[in-house]
Amino acid sequence: MKHRIANLLCALSLLPACGQESAGPAGGAPAVADNEQVQSRGANKDNWWDALPRPEWAAFEKIPQDQDWFEVYRVADGVYAIYEPGQFEEVMSFLIEGEERALLFDTGLGIGDMRRVVEQLTELDVIVLNSHTHYDHIGGNWQFDTIYGRDTAYTRGRTAGSPPEAVAGFLQEGWVWKALPEGFVAGEFSSRAFDIDRYVDEGDRIELGARSLEILVTPGHAPDSICLLDHENRLLFTGDTFYLAPLYTHLEGSSFADYARSAARLAGLAGRIDAALTSHNVPVVESRYMTALGAAFAAIEAGTATDFTLSDGYREYHFDGFSVIVRDEDQPAGQ
Ligand SMILES: [Zn+2]
Repeated sequence: MKHRIANLLCALSLLPACGQESAGPAGGAPAVADNEQVQSRGANKDNWWDALPRPEWAAFEKIPQDQDWFEVYRVADGVYAIYEPGQFEEVMSFLIEGEERALLFDTGLGIGDMRRVVEQLTELDVIVLNSHTHYDHIGGNWQFDTIYGRDTAYTRGRTAGSPPEAVAGFLQEGWVWKALPEGFVAGEFSSRAFDIDRYVDEGDRIELGARSLEILVTPGHAPDSICLLDHENRLLFTGDTFYLAPLYTHLEGSSFADYARSAARLAGLAGRIDAALTSHNVPVVESRYMTALGAAFAAIEAGTATDFTLSDGYREYHFDGFSVIVRDEDQPAGQ
């Protein structure tokens, strides 16, 4: 997957419309996007969505539910990926069931009705916990009664909600190819406020009944990034700390140094998991990618990562299956 770094600065999560008009598509696929970023993810096709469906999803059972906006797949025992392929982020949230309750790891963009899809998947009480509080992971939080979260200043800022201009970029031209849900008003799309009921921290375990999830505090991509480790089932939920696409250490609030420590930590877990579940594009990746993630950050820090492309203020370091975008000021000394 090839991106141009300059365009990536507009990408994912944080930055509002980035100078683009935020034209909410009324429905159906727009014509060929003139936005280079969204074109370039289309693997040499006209538009990024022409490269969908990603073949990796075919390995999983698709679960029926009644909203076109979402696709739902059973990706492991008791684990559903709730995927939003209609928007450029291709974000996914995970519903993880125990015998007594369920945990929803992220709530997506807030375009579809997340609560409705969750209620069609489980009758259990649901706890919401976010992998981090970038807008594309908290969009449906407001719909849920029980929300756990980190006690950080960054998190608190997001609980207050954000106005339409903060999230208008998600709907800009070329970023949405599916019809928006009936009744969705693009101009009113905002990040709605929510309350955290219980704070969680490093090492806490959330007991779902015959399933226990350990919280790993893994800052770097965002100040409040966490991963979830399901020891018994040998699964690691990585949020945005790892996925098969450019990894961002350069966003506002990101920290390369923290990310490198978190990467080393996840690498140390590679032998204790069978798979990692990631929050964009592809739901399940092999555990060896955790080793590769740690090695990638170590090589960047050591100045031995030599396959990179330059852009104004940034470098994108290329590795097998993913890349890492690093600010110039975070390059190792002498680079
Ligand atoms: Zn993010």
